[in-house]
Amino acid sequence: MDTKVIYDDTVCLIQKASKSVKLSNALLEQLINVQKSLQVAITIRLDNGEVKTFKGLRIHHNLILGPGKGGIRFHEHVDTYEVTSLAMLMSLKNALLRLPFGGAKGGIAVNPSSLSKNELEKLTRAYVLQIHNFVGPSKDVPAPDMGTNAQTMAWFLDTYEKIKGYASPAAVTGKPLALGGIALRETATGKGVSFCIAYALKKLHQKEIKHATVAIQGFGNVGAATALYLSDKNAKIVAVSDVSGAVYKKDGINIKEAVDWVSQGKLLKDMQNIEHITNEQLLSLDVDVLVPAAIESVITKENMHNIQAKIIAEGANGALTNDAIDYIYKKGIFVIPDILCNAGGVVASYFEWVQCKQSFFWHEEEVERLFLEKMRSAFDRVSQVSLDYDIDMKNAAVIDAVLHIASSMKERGLFF
Ligand code: NAD
Repeated sequence: MDTKVIYDDTVCLIQKASKSVKLSNALLEQLINVQKSLQVAITIRLDNGEVKTFKGLRIHHNLILGPGKGGIRFHEHVDTYEVTSLAMLMSLKNALLRLPFGGAKGGIAVNPSSLSKNELEKLTRAYVLQIHNFVGPSKDVPAPDMGTNAQTMAWFLDTYEKIKGYASPAAVTGKPLALGGIALRETATGKGVSFCIAYALKKLHQKEIKHATVAIQGFGNVGAATALYLSDKNAKIVAVSDVSGAVYKKDGINIKEAVDWVSQGKLLKDMQNIEHITNEQLLSLDVDVLVPAAIESVITKENMHNIQAKIIAEGANGALTNDAIDYIYKKGIFVIPDILCNAGGVVASYFEWVQCKQSFFWHEEEVERLFLEKMRSAFDRVSQVSLDYDIDMKNAAVIDAVLHIASSMKERGLFF
């Protein structure tokens, strides 16, 4: 994966949006530059006695709208380009959803599956020791991302509070329920993706989700939760995939069975009594909705001509490259862009943060009502910008976010 290409694509999206809204060069320069970044070396002793050093990052892209918000990724690909582009996307996503957060992201260059639980705990705690002055409930609020989970956040919070010497539950989100997390958080991204799909089908095609066919690439946190929500609404999910390949069933896959299979640590390629296809074949299936929910840059100029879906719901960040966006739009395929489609996680994180800050917890139904309201109003706003500017949804979402950040920058003025 070329992380520089992903970074260039993100900068290009911001530049294009800024041009569409005639933003001044002075504001554009602020938007494409990182406000602050911290790189740390994290040294731990492994279980076998070996001492190893890992590279860690935490990047504040733009904190105009509030404290930084964005996940922590544990993955071998983690580097400055990747984390910067993800922090930029977080600035845009938070602005689009009208959350009082700036954009941040962090990570450690490590393959988490190569470490034991004990080593992962040490690595997380040592990372917090290095970055604790860079984060905080009113400064920058981390959350889980690829390779991290609620357990990582529990270690993070525990270390942070011990260093500071006081309770600070709003310092991270995506925590276990027992530490002030919220029930919705773990499946919130999938809930947001499935809401956007149902809403788009109804708005564009007057179609109920139960009459739709769906293919989902990626069967992890986002893909599997999306599949479960959609299958609960009786959508026909004809294909799902993981890194090993895809399974296909014309009449619809039993999603609970597939979730059960992968939750035992098994790969989809080893599922029995089901047709097997490749990830590439999954992308070109003739379905109502295609959900790329695995990794970046899967719909590119090389395979964009094969796409037959009517709607693409970008569960993964940057699933479509910039080259593909224009072509897909002209072909009449409706794209629900990443910063809208997969915003459910950060919306739920926002409610968790608010609850922890005020030490008051709402009923789950109330959180759910507020969650859906946020997603719906952002969707409607992007649709309106798309009409106003006669532009595709992806660029429309960026335009809306850039306008929101820019208006805050203008109101604040310059310090010097
Ligand atoms: P995950 O690690 O839980 O799952 C990833 C899935 O994709 C797995 O099934 C894996 O086997 C599959 N996969 C990996 N490489 C693949 C490849 N080359 N081809 C096909 N499948 C492949 O990750 P996740 O949390 O579900 O995140 C998926 C995407 O969604 C990422 O781009 C992430 O940044 C984005 N995202 C996640 C969240 C969240 O709340 N988890 C929120 C916003 C955006």
